[in-house]
Amino acid sequence: MNYKNYINGEWSDKDAWSEVISTGVDSGSFKKMFDNVNPANTTKVIGQFRDSGEPEINYAVECATRAFKTWKNVPAPKRADILFKAAEILVRDKECIAKGMTVEMGKVLAETRGDVQEAIDIAYYAAGAGRRLTGETVPSELENKWSMSAKLPYGVIGMITPWNFPIAIPAWKAFPAIVAGNTVVLKPAEDTPWSVIKLAEVFHEAGLPDGVFNVVTGYGPSAGMPLVKHPKVKVISFTGSSATGRLIAKECSKLGKKYSLELGGKNSITVTENADLDLAVEGVIFGAFGTTGQRCTACSRVIIDKKVKKEFTEKLLAKTESLRIGDGLEDDTDVGPLINKKAIDKVEGYVMRAIERGDYLLAGGHEIEMNSGYFYAPTIFTDIKPDNELAQEEIFGPVVAIIEYNTFDEMMDIVNGTKYGLSAAIYTKDINESFRFMRDVETGLAYVNTSCIGAEVGQNFGGIKDTSPISSREAGNMMFDAVTYNKNMVVDFSGKLQKAQIE
Ligand code: NAD
Repeated sequence: MNYKNYINGEWSDKDAWSEVISTGVDSGSFKKMFDNVNPANTTKVIGQFRDSGEPEINYAVECATRAFKTWKNVPAPKRADILFKAAEILVRDKECIAKGMTVEMGKVLAETRGDVQEAIDIAYYAAGAGRRLTGETVPSELENKWSMSAKLPYGVIGMITPWNFPIAIPAWKAFPAIVAGNTVVLKPAEDTPWSVIKLAEVFHEAGLPDGVFNVVTGYGPSAGMPLVKHPKVKVISFTGSSATGRLIAKECSKLGKKYSLELGGKNSITVTENADLDLAVEGVIFGAFGTTGQRCTACSRVIIDKKVKKEFTEKLLAKTESLRIGDGLEDDTDVGPLINKKAIDKVEGYVMRAIERGDYLLAGGHEIEMNSGYFYAPTIFTDIKPDNELAQEEIFGPVVAIIEYNTFDEMMDIVNGTKYGLSAAIYTKDINESFRFMRDVETGLAYVNTSCIGAEVGQNFGGIKDTSPISSREAGNMMFDAVTYNKNMVVDFSGKLQKAQIE
C-alpha cells in the first residue's frame, strides 16, 4: 500500500502537486518513497511512505499558517468538541490501531492497546480543558482600570516524534496544542509513520478543519530539520534521543525559536532490604523488558541492598528465563522485537564491550534468530560498578545492570549519579525511606512500590537534567505551557490618562 502525506485535509497527490507547482517549490521529492517493515518479520512490508523533504514541509507549513487564521478564533469549547469526537473514534478503532501498531513497531498487543488508550485519555483530558482554558483577572492599582490575562496560541507548532510510543506521544503533543488554537505540522519517526497516518484519519473523520493537523512523513535530516528551520513554525516540540535533541536545540537557539525537548533516560529501580522481593521482581521485569527495554522510562539499573541481592537475583533470573520472546501479536508473547537493525547493533555493541571488559553476564547477551526479525534475549549483568557504561548510558534495549549498595546515602548517590533525570522507583516497606527517596531523587518522576514507568494523563510528564534540558512537561495541568503564551490585557475606562507607578 502506498501512503500519502496528510496536508490541508487531503491525501491526494494531485492537489499537493498543483499547490506545490503554484508555489514554485521543487516537487521532486514527492516521487520518493520508503518501505516500512514489520520488525518481528522483516520480509513483511507494511507499506510505502513518502520520503518527504523541504517542499512538502513548506507546503504543509503554508497550509497550517493559513488554517491558523481561522482556527485560533473558533471558540475553544467548539475546538474541544472535535477532539471529543476524535476520542470516540479512537475508542471505536482501538483494537485495529493497536494491532497495526504492533505490526509496525513490535511491542506486544497489551502495550499497543495501552498506547492507544493514552491517546484516548489525553483526548478526553485536553477536550475537557477546552472549557477550562482560564486566564486571570487581577485588581488594578488604579481606578476604573481592568487587568486580565489569557492563554493564547502561538500559531504553527512543529512536532517531531519518536517511534516507541507511536500514537501516545503525538497525541500528548498535538491534542493540547490544537485545543489551545494552534495548528500542527507533525513529522513522525520513520519507523512508525503508519500509526500517525491513522491519527490523521481519525481527525479527518472527526471533522477537523483543513490544515489544522498535518502529517509529513520522512527522515529526520531531510524532513525534520526543514520543519525546525522554517521561519513560520513558531515552536518546536521534540521527543527523541539526546543527540538529536542537542541538534534541534542548537538550531532553535540560532533562530531564537521556542522549543521543548523530552530526551533520553537512565532510569533505576532500587530494591531495599525490606522490600517485597516478588513485587520488586515483577516491577523490574515490566520496567526492563517491557517494550523490549525501549521506553524512555525503561529500568536499566537495579540498585539493590547487598543483604538481599542473592535472593532477589535468583528470583529475577528465574522469571527472566521464563519470558517468551516472539511476535507481539501472539497471545503468549512477553517480549517483542527491537525496532530495527541499528537497535540490534547498538545493544550488541554494549553487550560485547561488557563481555570483553569481563563484566558478569547473568542472562541473555545474544540475538535470537527468528522469522528474520530483530529479536534480542532479555539480558542481565550483575556486580556492575556505578561508573560502568552499562550503568551510565541509555542502551534502549532489554539490558539491565545490577548494582549493589550498603547504605541509603550510597544508594541515593548511585541513583542520582547519571546525567539523566527522568524516572526512578524504590521498593520498600519503610515509609521514611520512601519519602526521603521521593524528596532527594533527581528525576521528574518518582515511584514507590511500583515500576519506574506508567505515565498518566492527569500528571505532568517530563524530566530534569539532560532528559529535559529545557524544562517542559506534557499532559497534566502544565500541558498548555509549551503551546500557549500568556497575554496581559488592560482596559482603562476612566476616560483620562492614568500614570501607574511612575513616582
Ligand atoms: P531519534 O532522536 O533518533 O528520532 C526522534 C525523531 O527525530 C524522529 O522523528 C527522527 O526522524 C527525528 N530526527 C532524527 N534526526 C533528526 C534531525 N537531524 N533533525 C530533525 N529531526 C531528526 O530518537 P528515536 O530513536 O526515535 O527515539 C528514541 C529516543 O527517544 C530515546 O533516547 C528515548 O529515551 C527518547 N524518548 C524520550 C521520551 C521522553 O519523554 N523523555 C519519550 C520517548 C522516547
